[in-house]
Amino acid sequence: MNKFTCKKCGSVKLGYKKFVKCITPVVISPDGKIEYLQSTVDEDNYIWAENSFICLTCGEKVTYCGCDLKTEDELIDYLSKDKEEIEIEEKEYQELLEAEIYLQEQKDKEVYCPDEVVNHEII
Ligand SMILES: [Zn+2]
Repeated sequence: MNKFTCKKCGSVKLGYKKFVKCITPVVISPDGKIEYLQSTVDEDNYIWAENSFICLTCGEKVTYCGCDLKTEDELIDYLSKDKEEIEIEEKEYQELLEAEIYLQEQKDKEVYCPDEVVNHEII
């Protein structure tokens, strides 16, 4: 199993954020057992609607191919994957995402451009 490493800041400290302001440090033993440490309540924090695993250092959500990791099963599944496999899947996901964004942009142009502008471009 891989160790958690934050994609943003490189920290290996994992946390779990639930409801509004409560953050719980998470420690995973080598045999995959998940342990939750003392929770802290951050009064200054803004509201998060969802529960998910986060980087304890910078607060970045732990995601895999665009999905938040919310359950222990998802977390273990993610950490159990081959690092190379994750890289390939993330890359494929990014390419897919970029293609989606491009298609959406094209669609938006079709919707918002007045007819004469579209015609002008074609000519
Ligand atoms: Zn981080």
